[in-house]
Amino acid sequence: MVQRTFGPYGGQFVSELLMPLIHEVDAAYAKVKDDDEFQSQLSLLFRDYVGRPSPLWHAKRITDDLGGAQVYFKRDELNHTGAHKINNCLGQILLAQRMGKRRIIAETGAGQHGVATATVCALFNLPCTIYMGAKDITRQRPNIMRMTLLGAEIKPVETGNKTLKDAMNEAMRDWAEHAEDTYYLIGTAAGPHPYPTMVRDFQSVIGRELRWQAMEHLGRLPDHLVACLGGGSNALGLFHPFLDDPVAMYGVEAGGSGIETDHHAASLTMGMPGILHGNMTYLLQDDQGQIKNAHSIAAGLDYPGIGPEHAHLKDTGRVRYVTATDTEALTAFQYCARMEGILPALEPAHAIAFVQKLAPTLPKDDILVMNLCGRGDKDLLTIADALGMDLS
Ligand SMILES: *Cc1c(COP(=O)(O)O)cnc(C)c1O
Repeated sequence: MVQRTFGPYGGQFVSELLMPLIHEVDAAYAKVKDDDEFQSQLSLLFRDYVGRPSPLWHAKRITDDLGGAQVYFKRDELNHTGAHKINNCLGQILLAQRMGKRRIIAETGAGQHGVATATVCALFNLPCTIYMGAKDITRQRPNIMRMTLLGAEIKPVETGNKTLKDAMNEAMRDWAEHAEDTYYLIGTAAGPHPYPTMVRDFQSVIGRELRWQAMEHLGRLPDHLVACLGGGSNALGLFHPFLDDPVAMYGVEAGGSGIETDHHAASLTMGMPGILHGNMTYLLQDDQGQIKNAHSIAAGLDYPGIGPEHAHLKDTGRVRYVTATDTEALTAFQYCARMEGILPALEPAHAIAFVQKLAPTLPKDDILVMNLCGRGDKDLLTIADALGMDLS
């Protein structure tokens, strides 16, 4: 197991029933990883279905205003379905097809991964079941409508806190019961091996594109990378191709109402190592080892764990992990809207909040690239509510 993990983190902490299934996924992924036909099929989908490469945008007004490093956005919010999640879903559905699976299941919190999964299932004509906490269902009406229109079946989860963590438990239960024909399409760089590695590889298209875009347009690699962290997939996608280069990296966790309160999702900053959803990683837990509820204004960051590779990158010090609060993210959202004419999702608004602090401390010829991993359309009602806007 050791070579499959990230330092002491990761692994395959699953029941006997699931073990053969994850071995099957592991073997299938090992086969396609370096298969030219698989990779070129995926590249075509990225180009013609997602709209890749996503542009590298020089945020000039923000740069001038902050008065330090040159700020660039990697614009994954322009992808089909409005975020980076489609990159991973396309990779995994191609794999499921290769494996001859006839049914797809997935978990979703806010519904973003559910929508991306329902999208690729429609495209590949595979039936799709999405597990979603009953509490999240009442909070995310527009995404329920999207998934339904795309043909997905939504299974409300009534156990536990009725949110993402419980949805993931139910999806794993379903998988064990329908081993023969079902593929479990996990939405972030977490879960048992090989998922954290596989999801990171599919998302690494973000960093690979940035490498050549930076060389072509700027003549050199960036100096600083910034991304927000839910389970950690968009951040790893940006960071991973640069881990061996002299590039500083910052992961921004959701500080919620403040990390001194109990209302945040800062698993790396405030958590302790433990086991959840098949892997060992940093988790928000109480003295008894019970998993605590996460909180963030950004539904996509609202997870009490973190992908195991980030746990390792924290311990080795390769990546610095910081936090931004709900309030800071809301302010950063408005700042980005007014300065660049871009409505970011609340998740990357956390990264923007950190850029507002970091950029002014850096020299003017430094290059800072932030992953703008999602667009704000899905968050308009939350934002209007938080800002006390009158929509009548
Ligand atoms: C789901 C989501 C995230 C969090 O997921 P990661 O795996 O950490 O990338 C961040 N931003 C957006 C827009 C999302 O939809």
